[in-house]
Amino acid sequence: MSASDKPRPAGRPGWRQQTELVRGGQVRGPFDETAEALYLTSGYVYGSAEEAEAAFKQEIDRFVYSRYGNPTVGMFEDRLRRLEGAEECRATASGMAAVFASLICQLKAGDRVVASRALFGSCEFIIAQILPRFGIETVLIDGTDLTAWEQALAPGAACVFLETPSNPTLEVIDLAAVVELAHAAGARVIVDNVFASPVLQKPLALGADIVVYSATKHIDGQGRCMGGAILASKAFVDEHLVPLMRHTGPSMSPFNAWVLVKGLETLSLRMAAHCDNAVKVARYLEGRGGIRRVLYPSLESHPQRALAQRQMTGGGSIVAIELEGGKSTAFRFLNALRLVDISNNLGDAKSLITHPATTTHQRLTPESRAELGITDGLLRLSVGLEDADDLIEDLEQALTTSGVTAIAAQ
Ligand SMILES: *Cc1c(COP(=O)(O)O)cnc(C)c1O
Repeated sequence: MSASDKPRPAGRPGWRQQTELVRGGQVRGPFDETAEALYLTSGYVYGSAEEAEAAFKQEIDRFVYSRYGNPTVGMFEDRLRRLEGAEECRATASGMAAVFASLICQLKAGDRVVASRALFGSCEFIIAQILPRFGIETVLIDGTDLTAWEQALAPGAACVFLETPSNPTLEVIDLAAVVELAHAAGARVIVDNVFASPVLQKPLALGADIVVYSATKHIDGQGRCMGGAILASKAFVDEHLVPLMRHTGPSMSPFNAWVLVKGLETLSLRMAAHCDNAVKVARYLEGRGGIRRVLYPSLESHPQRALAQRQMTGGGSIVAIELEGGKSTAFRFLNALRLVDISNNLGDAKSLITHPATTTHQRLTPESRAELGITDGLLRLSVGLEDADDLIEDLEQALTTSGVTAIAAQ
């Protein structure tokens, strides 16, 4: 065992998910504290020079430096690992650090990466702009089209990267089918599972090799701090990820891990409440009429509803809507909201809304946006934990104020 690894903490075989979320991974210190302790330390001391030598030779299992491992970060990693059903987890400073580390730790010049096109803006930037600079060939395709995957994977690939449901248009990709095609082509599959959260979708159980998170989103869930995580097999983590992380330093701060480990305690309760609220809001928006599109994975009108129901246990917290009248109506509507905040974050207890074409996806060309369905009238609403009726009242008054007339459903 390497010195970056932590002692295996609490958790018993047979604990159910909610118990693991509250107690999994906790290691109590010498003061028998109730809550997880915050070990705000960068280094560790040794009882003797011999002990330090043994630690560096990896002959003994102990913490040596917080870039490699920290007890509070270890508790967060172990709790998330249990929730995901993964052999190993490594926490990172942000979601993007997790995405980049998961790719770069295993790729080299000459490799090929196939990715779905509907990605979080920075993920798209890594795949389309950064990786090719290092001689890695990258191909972006329509992730909902299995024939496109088959064709793109035909020459072989080292790695597949995808996000489902996608940001911001909530497209759903068939994980089991893509995994089968990718494995046949010799590729490892990385799934960005941020929108679904580890509660609603388990990509590893569907055959994926690596799952990445922005813990900044639902895992924190209260808009306080940045974080990310990578979950995979022990073989992958030991061979590829640990060497990269130790020497390049994308590690999570102990303070953030302490916030996030407490976030996990309430994650499944919050996700259930997010889903309930999001369904209510989506149904109201669809029933109200006057809106060109309402996108939410568990709505009857979602083109991939059956697939979403097969691989997710809930629709998630994000609803996308497209207003007639493009940017000017969308902006009037945003500016008329009184409760829902304009913000590009998501997965927060507070409901947040953004106009992807001018914020998260403004860097893309108009053609790429059109290809992804990111029109000037599209808005991404992250439904929070307020009372759904207050949210609906706010949305209704803002729609009316901005001139979006209701058309009663037939
Ligand atoms: C936010 C987000 C990321 C990036 O995470 P950060 O914590 O902001 O670095 C990656 N993927 C998806 C789908 C996201 O929503």
